[in-house]
Amino acid sequence: MTLAPTESHETGVQCPYPGCGRSLRPDSSGFCACEYRDPVVVCGSCGVVCPGRARYCRGCRAALPPIGEPDCRTLASAPRVEFLFVPGIFHGPPLAHRGFLWCLAADGQVMRLSLAPDAHPREWASMGSQSAGSNRYAIVDASFRGTGEHRPMLLAIDPEAVWSLPLAEHQASVLYRPPRGQEIVANRTAAESILFRGLAAANDAYAFLLRSPGTREAVMAIRYFNEDRAGEQPIRISGTSFLGPVMEDGLATVCSEDEVWVYRNTEQAGDCFEFKNFAPMFSRSSGDLAVLLGVTPLWAGTGDRGLEARIAGTRDGQTGWLRVFFDRHYDEFMPLPKQACISRADPSGLCVNLLDTVEFLGVDQAPRHYGNLEPGMPVACSGSSVAYWNRVDSAERHELTVFAGVPLGLEFEDRDSNANTCCGFGFSGPGLVVSYIVPLKPKCDRGMRIAHWRLRK
Ligand SMILES: [Zn+2]
Ligand SMILES: [Zn+2]
Repeated sequence: MTLAPTESHETGVQCPYPGCGRSLRPDSSGFCACEYRDPVVVCGSCGVVCPGRARYCRGCRAALPPIGEPDCRTLASAPRVEFLFVPGIFHGPPLAHRGFLWCLAADGQVMRLSLAPDAHPREWASMGSQSAGSNRYAIVDASFRGTGEHRPMLLAIDPEAVWSLPLAEHQASVLYRPPRGQEIVANRTAAESILFRGLAAANDAYAFLLRSPGTREAVMAIRYFNEDRAGEQPIRISGTSFLGPVMEDGLATVCSEDEVWVYRNTEQAGDCFEFKNFAPMFSRSSGDLAVLLGVTPLWAGTGDRGLEARIAGTRDGQTGWLRVFFDRHYDEFMPLPKQACISRADPSGLCVNLLDTVEFLGVDQAPRHYGNLEPGMPVACSGSSVAYWNRVDSAERHELTVFAGVPLGLEFEDRDSNANTCCGFGFSGPGLVVSYIVPLKPKCDRGMRIAHWRLRK
């Protein structure tokens, strides 16, 4: 006997993602049934199921609710941790964009991960570069001429090219190739991936260094997504080792063993300061100062003493920040405590874990006293939300505190998570994401484990 299908929530509602075609399970609770568990949302006006990150309903064009930000006030209790895994070898952190995580592996494979229970990463595209994954990469909402539209793009770099992958597509292409006889200053091998050099990108432009091999100088190139605006090479910097460039708030900053340069994009003017008795830190190899993967310990901005640059490095055997004040032509060295940790703030700026305080650079957050911060671990900051690791005497159990509306304690257990394996720490939509490289052996099962919490009802 065959039973006629009974009343079910599965009445032919299909997944809205192209190429999926699965029926949505009644227990889908906001995610597709397929292995990728892409988020879905039901339109409140017409009931059509739409991709969870869409802005408008594909049935009636009504505006869909935006991706929420973390808000611990909406939670009755601390959420449980969820774990995910992305296979591959990684030299950089996953990047969050519109609720998904994007990962670039050492072999150039780009994967997209939904922050859903049991989600598997989706192989999205290949960069066609064997060394782009050894360099810092970026996702920007690139603004092109005339359209007013922003196109989300992943940008990556190697010594031969700047690569771009529009996130809506599965095809990467070359955005820029250096002229004959020149190369981009970028990492070529996994061993070089610890060097703080590569690409800087913002929504309007991207910057990188070009040089002729064998010479003792480089030029900073800035190129715009708006094709009406000509590219520039405004700075010539002497040296053989380079830190940066970094670019935010209209400032492009780069440093060598000799000097630091800040270029003010709108005024098209640069400032330079020559180092005396200071050695910048060019790689992540320092045991004194932790720098999270994908972060460059270099920053510039305007403070109460005018235009300032900060460069991590050493003076007289001490590790710390060199603060350069361009308007008054002087510098000041600020030692950092052992196992301080530098991480990125979102959308721009840096967070510095000073063990009893967090200092924010280029972020609208006052430095605060936080009690006991875990040495060597990063701080996450996005808008008004902040998260950090509490110091605990356990290799297995980890405690975090998040401020999002109200403070909330989170915890998880994993012996593989520590200061040496930590790869990324940040917010993604309403979630908090910790990623770390596991395990060191055997090689075939290498990948990135991701612990995350949803911080909104
Ligand atoms: Zn689906
Ligand atoms: Zn609708």
